[in-house]
Amino acid sequence: MNILIAEDQALAAIFLRRTLEKMGHEVTVAPDGEEAWRIVQEGNSPLLISDWMMPRLDGPELCRRIRGAPGDRYTYIILLTSLDRRDDKLTGLRAGADDFLTKPPDADELALRLEIAERILAVHDQLARQNSRLAELAAVDELTGAKNRRRFREDLELLFAQAARMETPLSLIMLDIDHFKQFNDDFGHPAGDEILRGVGAILRTAIRGHDVAARYGGEEFVVLLPAATRDEALEVAARLRRAIKVQPWAHRGVTASVGVATSDKSTPCSAALVEQADRALYHSKRNGRDRITHHDACSAEAAIAHV
Ligand code: GH3
Ligand code: MG
Ligand code: MG
Ligand code: MG
Repeated sequence: MNILIAEDQALAAIFLRRTLEKMGHEVTVAPDGEEAWRIVQEGNSPLLISDWMMPRLDGPELCRRIRGAPGDRYTYIILLTSLDRRDDKLTGLRAGADDFLTKPPDADELALRLEIAERILAVHDQLARQNSRLAELAAVDELTGAKNRRRFREDLELLFAQAARMETPLSLIMLDIDHFKQFNDDFGHPAGDEILRGVGAILRTAIRGHDVAARYGGEEFVVLLPAATRDEALEVAARLRRAIKVQPWAHRGVTASVGVATSDKSTPCSAALVEQADRALYHSKRNGRDRITHHDACSAEAAIAHV
């Protein structure tokens, strides 16, 4: 195990380091609390054995900082002290310490305490792994493997805010399968589900790492393209439309209508971007389906219609 020692007395640090190394652990030594805090933040030290009295930042304060910091990796803290008074132990426990050892620590006792630490850290690790797996599952649409609508909404907010801050565009592609109700009616819902799965797979393979593909609703999908200009987004949209059209689907061919919108300084909020892509999509539907419309084009058209 990687163990961090926070100890200002060089001799005490060397003694403890040797003992731990003999037990087969990898040891880092910080000569004061501030340095220990810096190393803890690097995230490679699940176990901290900290002296109580140290310059700059003492043991209990170091505990408080570690417990107050966000993050899902647990640091197990053993406070090392020559103090053996009840009040001091309470202070240490309140600060967030997991265990205490009296200085200088007895090797056998130290080994036992480390066993306990390892056991508890293993449980924390397992929980963290399960949590991240659950978070992943909660973000994915079961049928298509695309992100679900909730995750889309979260990512949209985040990416929209980021785009506004960086003054870069954010493009949104909205895609709706054509005459899908008829497909279900003709071939049954399981066959329809196959189409949805296939479109999900096409979306996943067609996008880059930081793009987000999600199922927006029944047979509607969205793709978020951070930093993609209008033309770049139109290229991706063309690729998607084509991939769906040429796929050798069972039963009969499938097409999709697509709407694209790109944010700029005048886009007031993320909801407006969705509305624009939606309007462009309906423009594609009205004009014969199996086509792509950028919101630019329909807004220009709307402006002409109003003259
Ligand atoms: P348009 O070209 O105008 O988009 O017509 P459409 O038939 O595709 O659109 P409409 O909104 O009338 O119908 C959508 C259909 O999508 C109806 C619904 O049964 C089907 N659908 C929604 N979710 C699922 C699903 O999870 N599985 C299957 N098989 N069908 C679904
Ligand atoms: Mg000290
Ligand atoms: Mg629809
Ligand atoms: Mg449809």
